[in-house]
Amino acid sequence: MAGTKALLMLENFIDGKFLPCSSYIDSYDPSTGEVYCRVPNSGKDEIEAAVKAAREAFPGWSSRSPQERSRVLNQVADLLEQSLEEFAQAESKDQGKTLALARTMDIPRSVQNFRFFASSILHHTSECTQMDHLGCMHYTVRTPVGVAGLISPWNLPLYLLTWKIAPAMAAGNTVVAKPSELTSVTAWMLCTLLDKAGVPPGVVNIVFGTGPRVGEALVSHPEVPLISFTGSQPTAERITQLSAPHCKKLSLELGGKNPAIIFEDANLDECIPATVRSSFANQGEICLCTSRIFVQKSIYTEFLQRFVEATRKWKVGIPSDPLASMGALISKAHLEKVRSYVKRALAEGAQIWCGEGVDKLNLPTRNQAGYFMLPTVITDIKDESCCMTEEIFGPVTCVVPFDSEEEVIERANNVKYGLAATVWSSNVGRVHRVAKKLQSGLVWTNCWLIRELNLPFGGMKSSGIGREGAKDSYDFFTEIKTITVKH
Ligand code: NAD
Repeated sequence: MAGTKALLMLENFIDGKFLPCSSYIDSYDPSTGEVYCRVPNSGKDEIEAAVKAAREAFPGWSSRSPQERSRVLNQVADLLEQSLEEFAQAESKDQGKTLALARTMDIPRSVQNFRFFASSILHHTSECTQMDHLGCMHYTVRTPVGVAGLISPWNLPLYLLTWKIAPAMAAGNTVVAKPSELTSVTAWMLCTLLDKAGVPPGVVNIVFGTGPRVGEALVSHPEVPLISFTGSQPTAERITQLSAPHCKKLSLELGGKNPAIIFEDANLDECIPATVRSSFANQGEICLCTSRIFVQKSIYTEFLQRFVEATRKWKVGIPSDPLASMGALISKAHLEKVRSYVKRALAEGAQIWCGEGVDKLNLPTRNQAGYFMLPTVITDIKDESCCMTEEIFGPVTCVVPFDSEEEVIERANNVKYGLAATVWSSNVGRVHRVAKKLQSGLVWTNCWLIRELNLPFGGMKSSGIGREGAKDSYDFFTEIKTITVKH
């Protein structure tokens, strides 16, 4: 439990007010393993109050013009940008990621999410067709759905939460959001900014707590017609079951087992650093991270040697260390789970080239109980192994050789997931051919994680249902109606 320092106490944000909760759960600093914060352990009552506030705020907010809503979203973005450093420090402490990443990716992207949807909401049009021979015309109108239930994970806490809040609000919905209980601090900080930016009470309500308690209360609530969820596949299954009796609109952004395919004509000087980053950025805790690296046989030995060398330079350090490429994993339980995959690989006869069990961590005394792990490279592993089929969601990647284009496409597609893939080759024809055949919602060729927010984001197969982006999010957060007028 608590040390001598006062703990940070979070409160729910309902109807524009911060409200204490009757019970709390501990939240840990991943870099020390110490409790530093207490998060409301909300349940049905808090969801009831939040949904009531959101329902009452809906008529006012949804009848504002897109321009007015856009102005408010831009105001939130400006305030968040002014507090970028404070938010980056908080995100890094709460999640374990490096401060550098929070400063350059998480918080700037959260700002961008508000600005992007503030702008895109001004540019949607509807369809109209004529049937002159019958003397009529048809057109479509879109209306906000109502109270949007938003549930987000712990890996990119504010980034993914605002990727849902901003389009939901922009389209005229009101919101009840539930961030991960493991990383609630920046969502709580955001509430103060929402108020300052002039978001009316009840438009955004944030209720904290665990999935089974408060998450399920939100998903099961009959007055919440839409759920946007980012998280794991087993949770998505449960959400789908709970939503079924109400026929809710669902968007599910789930996990991946993302392949990188590296052909013999790849530019290794660019490919190797990019693949180290795609494997280990944010401690490998990004749904888009590479975890299966297929390398064409003729360059396999060279690639492996250079890749391991570069991985060894991917420094693990305390989150505030400016030289650290990687911080701490999210929790003790998650660290143990990730390590267990390396043990299972060893038991299957795989070889570990660097990282877990091979090299030693070098951390200050204060951080010895933190959830740190070295980036780990595995080879000599079968495609059927759990390390090659299950999402590990940590700093572990497997490198395997392949012979031909046809073979590697089949092997890359041979998992239940289909979120993201990377292809490295200087043959333009091959790049297009392979990208088209991969069962993957996103394919990056000769690069990784360059995002165009206008275009659809999401996965195939067990990686999810639905897409997010300018038009896709607008479609999801609105209902469409076709109207026929006879004149
Ligand atoms: P998780 O499924 O455990 O939790 C996600 C959220 O759902 C949390 O807020 C959690 O409290 C809540 N939740 C848990 N059980 C619930 C229930 N029964 N009912 C309602 N809500 C419930 O996932 P996680 O461990 O927080 O996140 C990691 C997963 O998220 C990985 O699988 C990762 O790939 C995935 N992810 C996907 C994307 C994407 O865009 N596709 C992005 C980031 C993370």
